Amino acid sequence: MRVLIPREELEAKVAELAAAITRDYEDKCPVLVCVLKGAVFFLADLARRLPFDLEIEFMAVSSYGASTESSGVVRILKDLDTDVEGRHVLIVEDIIDSGLTLQYLTRSLWSRNPASLEIVTLLSKPSRRVAELPCKYTGFEIENEFVVGYGLDYAEKYRNLPYIGVMDDV
Ligand code: IMP
Ligand code: MG
Repeated sequence: MRVLIPREELEAKVAELAAAITRDYEDKCPVLVCVLKGAVFFLADLARRLPFDLEIEFMAVSSYGASTESSGVVRILKDLDTDVEGRHVLIVEDIIDSGLTLQYLTRSLWSRNPASLEIVTLLSKPSRRVAELPCKYTGFEIENEFVVGYGLDYAEKYRNLPYIGVMDDV
């Protein structure tokens, strides 16, 4: 395993993103929508740095098909527990690859008439983008490498690593 982003850099970036989000949302009581499972570590660290009222919701989605490539056909496995009509919604995502998953998710959430809908992602692979996706806050732009750790998995393993790593042997 090769360390791509060490723990200290993750912490500094999360603090930087939290400062920007605080400026934009501190009087809006936003609903943070965490996309399971990969974004849970990011959400937990980010939310603890947001010193204002907010709510936290979870969604779980699965792409049809078992490959590491996103098909764009997404099924909602777990939906929000609350109505977001008129609310300021901020999707918290671990990584945007093709963008197809979030394209589906944002369409679904827009249909519920939120007051606003934005995305914060810890990681982005811009070279892989298929779907045009407005992402308001991006932590790190990375090369087209498969990364694990800090919530991200390979076959459900390695989510518990405290850093982002690259598996050179897969
Ligand atoms: P997209 O629909 O292609 O943007 O796929 C996004 C999802 O694929 C992410 O939420 C991750 O769950 C997964 N994914 C994409 N790239 C990686 C990676 O490098 N490591 C781990 N999971 C990834
Ligand atoms: Mg994910």
